[in-house]
Amino acid sequence: MRPVAPGAWLGLLGGGQLGRMFSMAAQSLGYRVLVLDPGSDGPTASVADDHLCADYLDTAALVEMGRRCAAVTTEFENVPAEALRRLGESCVVSPGHGGVAIAQDRIREKRFLVEAGLSTAPFAVIFTEFDLPTVDAALFPGILKLARLGYDGKGQISVASAANLPAAFTALGGRPCVLERRLPLELEVSVVVARGFDGGVTTFPVAENRHANGILDVSMVPARIPDALAAAARDAALRVAEALDYRGVLCVEFFVVEGGQLVANEIAPRPHNSGHYSIDACVSSQFEQQARVMCRQPLGDTGLLSAAVMVNLLGDLWAAGEPDWGHVFRHPRAKLHLYGKREARPGRKMGHFTVLADTADEALETAVLIKADLIAGTRPSA
Ligand code: ADP
Ligand code: MG
Repeated sequence: MRPVAPGAWLGLLGGGQLGRMFSMAAQSLGYRVLVLDPGSDGPTASVADDHLCADYLDTAALVEMGRRCAAVTTEFENVPAEALRRLGESCVVSPGHGGVAIAQDRIREKRFLVEAGLSTAPFAVIFTEFDLPTVDAALFPGILKLARLGYDGKGQISVASAANLPAAFTALGGRPCVLERRLPLELEVSVVVARGFDGGVTTFPVAENRHANGILDVSMVPARIPDALAAAARDAALRVAEALDYRGVLCVEFFVVEGGQLVANEIAPRPHNSGHYSIDACVSSQFEQQARVMCRQPLGDTGLLSAAVMVNLLGDLWAAGEPDWGHVFRHPRAKLHLYGKREARPGRKMGHFTVLADTADEALETAVLIKADLIAGTRPSA
């Protein structure tokens, strides 16, 4: 099939910050973006060229999108895979519904990772209360995770022992879950992969991630891990994309367990928060890469132009009003990205900033300074 030339319309399901950054990247290549988002003032709607304000399964909206767009993608992990399947009948869809359906369901995802030959945390699947007594005692202390619709640490409960499991299962609504053993983590890393319709693949540099309260806080590149471990993570992420026969951008999150073992945690079937550094620090960003895949253009280079640290800006930072962005602007190698969300709530991702420097440690030093200044709320010095 021929590449889709700039000027064509690209469809996007979901209107959050990932869609906003995708739209900006696609538009800068000359494409036009039609977003389907049930919300009226999401971060993408103000940027996209046109907005269908309707439910993801609204037949008229899906028909219109399929008619107007050369290719369609999604930015929202929990978009109904059925919407992608229906759109796939009339246009190119990237990623396809199959990979998305697996990543949306922790039970299928875990089983898929094992089948693809990756290590995972030891786990048990719990469909109903009748499965509770059968759980292996070796899985405690563990974490009970809802199979569907969890994100940013939501839908998860720590479970110290088997005696606490029934209450945790009830607290999560008695719905299908995965119980994982809690592993002693040395650190967390992730790899963003792009795989094109021509079979071309690229991996982005491995990011080292720190979480706070279950939400990504900081990503650093290059990750401060041995080269062999970074190569193993990139290989494992590629294996995931290939085993899914995936076309598009995905991210694989890994744990590095004490002792250095690499364990796959989860798959995000889209560009990922831990890959935002690529906007400022790579030749091609993860969002440009998604546009290239959809349009059947060759993949861009993923090489690092600079070491970088990305820091998420959560709504908590707005507790005393709009932060003073002068604290970011005064650093010439810091880049501010705000998502245009009107209402700041604790834990809500409002934006991020990325600091470029000669080494990841140097970038981290500046990033920590900036974050502390933003929290302190003092006026920036000259
Ligand atoms: P989410 O969909 O919310 O990102 P994750 O499964 O990635 O869910 O869990 C969120 C975070 O919780 C992880 O990034 C990690 O810090 C911690 N975590 C999750 N599972 C485990 C585990 N088995 N052992 C230790 N820490 C874990
Ligand atoms: Mg995660």
